[in-house]
Amino acid sequence: MAVDDLHPDLTVTRRAPEPEPSFPGFDPVAALDGLGAVWSPDFDAYASGEVGAHQVRCALCETCPCSCPEFGTAEHFALVDRRHGRRT
Ligand SMILES: [Zn+2]
Repeated sequence: MAVDDLHPDLTVTRRAPEPEPSFPGFDPVAALDGLGAVWSPDFDAYASGEVGAHQVRCALCETCPCSCPEFGTAEHFALVDRRHGRRT
């Protein structure tokens, strides 16, 4: 006997309700883009489960594994500026 044969209303109770958005109308991606965020070229593939975290290229240096200069060095800040399209 299938679960759906038990009672016609059972299908309604088995279904989880859609989560309510915490802030209706708020688009977190648009908000981050508005702040000038840069994204890994693989973020969408990661978010959809197509690739694992170990396959995601770095948002800053765009390589996998990350090959960023040491954090806080002049080379690091120069790379940040380049990724954000700022001249140094
Ligand atoms: Zn990196």
